[in-house]
Amino acid sequence: MMKDNVYIKDILAKSLDLQVLNLPEISALLDVRDEGMWDEVFDTARKVKEKVYGKRIVLFAPLYLSNECANDCLYCGFRKGNTEAVRKSLSVDEAVEEAALLSKRGYKRLLLVASEHNKRAGIDYFENVIDAIYKRTDIRILHVNSAPATVEEFRRLKASGIGVYQCFQETYHIPSYRHLHPTGTKADYAWRLGAMDRAIEAGFEDIGMGVLLGLYDWRWDVAALLSHCRRLISKYGLGPHTLSVPRLQPAKGSMVDLERYRVSDEDLKKIVAVFRLALPYVGIVISTREPAELRDQLFSTGASQISAGSKTSPFGYIKDGDTEQFEVSDKRSLDEVIRKLCTLGLIPSLCTACYREGRSGGTFRDLAQKESMKAFCHENALLSLKEYMEDSASDELKEHLGKILKEEISKSRNGLSEKMKLIEKGKRDIHI
Ligand code: SF4
Ligand code: SF4
Repeated sequence: MMKDNVYIKDILAKSLDLQVLNLPEISALLDVRDEGMWDEVFDTARKVKEKVYGKRIVLFAPLYLSNECANDCLYCGFRKGNTEAVRKSLSVDEAVEEAALLSKRGYKRLLLVASEHNKRAGIDYFENVIDAIYKRTDIRILHVNSAPATVEEFRRLKASGIGVYQCFQETYHIPSYRHLHPTGTKADYAWRLGAMDRAIEAGFEDIGMGVLLGLYDWRWDVAALLSHCRRLISKYGLGPHTLSVPRLQPAKGSMVDLERYRVSDEDLKKIVAVFRLALPYVGIVISTREPAELRDQLFSTGASQISAGSKTSPFGYIKDGDTEQFEVSDKRSLDEVIRKLCTLGLIPSLCTACYREGRSGGTFRDLAQKESMKAFCHENALLSLKEYMEDSASDELKEHLGKILKEEISKSRNGLSEKMKLIEKGKRDIHI
């Protein structure tokens, strides 16, 4: 066996022990050239994910609030300079209407997404939308992807009841960043880089990070992102709750060459695996940018969350047609994604229990590192599926889920059967 492979195996053993990797170890993984060794890396990433979270895969939907943007990111359909774009910002009532529709379809967690525009999507607007969705729909947790804010604005956002604050650096390569973000507040690299410091200082314990893969050399950006995460961990004792792996996609009005730093499907699998191994307890999020078949494969390299049935234009769930941020590849409905996950031997989950119970930040990470989280995830996933079955599933899926739940109840010694009966009687949000 080559000497390098012995080192890689040592790194894989460290990840399997759920330890965070250091930069030399991350670089060694990114530099693996032996395809046979990659199979071992993928397999270990899957095992690490199952040690932490078991078989569950969390499902959510994005809710786009606005596509009016003050920035001009060259790769984005919402950019200010795209004069062809049909613009829309949802009123509070329209945001509630979309959230209520998604709730009826069975979603319990939504990611609110807004372009960067102080007047259209400032902190007052977010507070009003969040308050109205919590008060007027059955959505249980809202996460937010929005512009970097001041510490005071982040405090207000946190106080409004948000779970995860998400913001991507897009690329850490400064010359590329400057070229791709020519105007607006986003042109300020350092302001964006400091967003997570300010969010943590404001009290956020759960933050979501990422890069837009395909803007620069992916190995470089992955290493840079993980360096950023490690810096936050060493400074604040907490790193990202989630890492997302968005890949550059065609968008109407985009001005970038999609081929120059193209990330292949195989590369994307490697990126997911490296994230899983580098930060074992992190949630790894796959969006509907990716085609259905590839998304199904990414679960076996460490992914743990996916969006489903998504629309990427404001009011897109109620009325399709306005400008999208990017093209959606996986057009399957939530029902179809749930069915597919079941056939892969995974457990789809609409659970929001940790947010209801205050398991966040360090508490969450400690439970994950002690391999205690997966017990919560497993039972809560089943309870959430029972609710979905009662309230939203198609008749065909109901029958399928009924069989799965019956089998799981027979294996459980945890009073699962009684909890399921309560759900049948109409009780909701039962979790551990
Ligand atoms: Fe605006 Fe975000 Fe698009 Fe940039 S990526 S143009 S900030 S919506
Ligand atoms: Fe997520 Fe916690 Fe539910 Fe597991 S138990 S799916 S970690 S909210």
